[in-house]
Amino acid sequence: MRLAVLGGVLLTPDETIEDAGLLIEDGRFAFVGTRKELEASEDWEDELTLDERDVILPGLINTHTHGPMTLLRGIADDLPLMRWLEEEIWPREERLDAEKCRWGAALAAVEALRSGTTCLVDMYFYMGAVAEAYAEAGIRAVISHGMIDLGDEDKREEELRETRRIYRKCHGLEDLIEVSLGPHAPYTCSEELLREVRRLADEWGVRIQIHVAETRDEVRQVKKETGRRPVEYLDELGLLGDDVIAAHCVWLTDDEIDTLARRGVIVSHNPASNMKLASGVSPVPDLLERGATVTLGTDGCASNNNLDLLEEMKLAALLHKVDRGDPTATRAREILRMTTSRAEGVYSLEKIGRIEEGYAADLVILDGSSPRMNPCHSPTSNVVYSATGADVKHVLVGGEPVVRNGRVTTVDEEEVLEHARECAEQLAGD
Ligand SMILES: [Zn+2]
Repeated sequence: MRLAVLGGVLLTPDETIEDAGLLIEDGRFAFVGTRKELEASEDWEDELTLDERDVILPGLINTHTHGPMTLLRGIADDLPLMRWLEEEIWPREERLDAEKCRWGAALAAVEALRSGTTCLVDMYFYMGAVAEAYAEAGIRAVISHGMIDLGDEDKREEELRETRRIYRKCHGLEDLIEVSLGPHAPYTCSEELLREVRRLADEWGVRIQIHVAETRDEVRQVKKETGRRPVEYLDELGLLGDDVIAAHCVWLTDDEIDTLARRGVIVSHNPASNMKLASGVSPVPDLLERGATVTLGTDGCASNNNLDLLEEMKLAALLHKVDRGDPTATRAREILRMTTSRAEGVYSLEKIGRIEEGYAADLVILDGSSPRMNPCHSPTSNVVYSATGADVKHVLVGGEPVVRNGRVTTVDEEEVLEHARECAEQLAGD
């Protein structure tokens, strides 16, 4: 099946092409150029014609979230991190089961797709059910069972057993789901667990997702227990590499920034969560300057409270300007790359994050007739500083239309919302 996408302004994201012409074959881009060039050289069976002001982007990649936490959206705000976790979040998470995580993930998928996200990097529990919900919705995901052993050997074995089970059951599911390893953080995982994670990642050829240097307390705790700061400690264990997605990376020394850059670690910057929990400001301009791979994540809905990467892009751009007292500290094009091409390394089943021949046909079309998209002096500027997820018109994942005219086509949205509300009520009750 050959599908042509005709018209609109294309951001690849490195190049801008007006009156674009794209050809999609077997789920991948077979031609990228102008409509004129496409019409002169190719033919196709099906076509999607866009308005000339519509803006086409690569599918957005959310490099850190906890999908089922959509169920905890708005349950506890405006609290310090540890009180928030210990009194509000963890007691509710004890009541989770596979059914609740399935509907929480289904809600996350609907919300993510409708706001232009085509790939989620997700660490949580009951990931078998989460994977099924994502595959059904037609969204790509790099999932991991979040592992915490706190030095307990039995717990460690249990966590690794669950990770192996999820890997066997879900890796490659519907050609959308990639399984990775999810040690929660250097302060909740033992050295033995972290070493085993590295060994398994090498053996299976999969990614590692981990929270790193999110708060000052974490740095203090890791230093007390290991004599090293979080990034130094992880590097000494041999954990860091270009297959590691490190979420937050707020509290870093210059040496740690260099280490992250040298090892090719994929840093997931989560500005909304870091602001909401007052964790601090990640040194993103320095990370970029030293050549580190910086990407964007929303974190879970309990600390954001949505999964809208278009909103996250604006927050990322603004946060570092005010933090540095320098309006040039972050630039729109760079922010767009963080959410697309810079994040390509999180997924290995297909090439994603760019609109180029051979890459998976994951793309987002923003509605050029939206007031927020007009006038359009610069499509990149409108995307980063003006658009929100509500401006998303169509979304394709692997060439499949998963959002059409702002509605998810793969699942019944009303059914997902109803089940998710029921599950959320059960979690909220005393
Ligand atoms: Zn997180």
